[in-house]
Amino acid sequence: MPAYRRRTEQFISLAQECGFDLCGVAAVGEISEYHFFEEWVRAGMAGQMRYLTDHRAALRRDARLLLPSAVSVLCAGKVYRTQENPGGGAGKGRVSSYAWGGDYHDWMRRHLEMLVGRLKDEWGEFESKVCVDTAPLLERAIARSAGLGWIGRNMCLINERIGSWFFLGEILASVSMAASNPPPGRCGTCRRCIDACPTQALVPTRESDGPGYALDSRKCISYLTIELRGEIPPDLRAAMGDHLFGCDICQDVCPWNSKSPMALEPEFQPRHAFPDLEESAALTPEEFRERYRGSPVWRAKHEGFLRNVAVAMGNSGDPRYVPALRTLAAQGGPVVGEHAEWALSRLSSSTF
Ligand code: SF4
Ligand code: SF4
Repeated sequence: MPAYRRRTEQFISLAQECGFDLCGVAAVGEISEYHFFEEWVRAGMAGQMRYLTDHRAALRRDARLLLPSAVSVLCAGKVYRTQENPGGGAGKGRVSSYAWGGDYHDWMRRHLEMLVGRLKDEWGEFESKVCVDTAPLLERAIARSAGLGWIGRNMCLINERIGSWFFLGEILASVSMAASNPPPGRCGTCRRCIDACPTQALVPTRESDGPGYALDSRKCISYLTIELRGEIPPDLRAAMGDHLFGCDICQDVCPWNSKSPMALEPEFQPRHAFPDLEESAALTPEEFRERYRGSPVWRAKHEGFLRNVAVAMGNSGDPRYVPALRTLAAQGGPVVGEHAEWALSRLSSSTF
């Protein structure tokens, strides 16, 4: 067997031993999907996410801009969902399932570095770079060409066997390996994610050669609750329901997720899946830090989290939140205060 093929087989076997559920190899080169990304940015659909639109945007064109000696991209996926989503219920908010446990970057980076160490034991020294979603890579496009799945109409990478509840990580490597084959798209005539999205954030695109849909982040609840700083557009708040951090709706409805395996890692087990709204509204900055430092929820910051809690309270239809909202309106700062006022007005005027 040629060495480049043997290396791919060794990688697949060692990735499994290091705890990954999916793996595959993509050859390094210009990413053919890059023009979709450019078009998406040009259309303003990245919203305020400057890390996608500033000087780092062009680095996504080719992985060699991150590691000039790279020849292969070794992609690995890790299932993160730990239970079915039972919903928050009365008095509770909702956190996206990727954020139920600790910060996944730690697990991914640690295990990718362990994998690099095992590969170097086998192959000798080579140049490498570990990337976990903060690196400027078009990682879903690369993972698709590495055979991990296809990009669904919900813009998630979907694997036929395990669905879409998995994290992605990459190792850029200066070794030649046999590349995997990308699978065909299997969305067929399904439109469940598009129909279920409460804010119509999955929008049709013009390109005839593209995926047909794009995610307009500016309307997406994940973006609104996590990335957006400041005011949430008032016309989108009612559709946010009880979401405090992220949104899983377009993955929950996807038929490819109906038989997804569950993660057993202690670090991914739920700690903050359905926070109590009243308790969340009363968190001081110190308590927020103590609870969410080391969790993806930390990214929303205290102000963003309270803003989201106020919107969820306004959407609850439950007058018991009036005192907590009055406190937020009086003491919460301009952004939180404005959202608390909106929530009070919604509670008093709506029929639910
Ligand atoms: S995450 Fe939620 S808001 Fe965003 S596209 Fe999916 S269903 Fe729509
Ligand atoms: S819900 Fe249907 S259209 Fe959407 S990603 Fe899943 S299979 Fe594709």
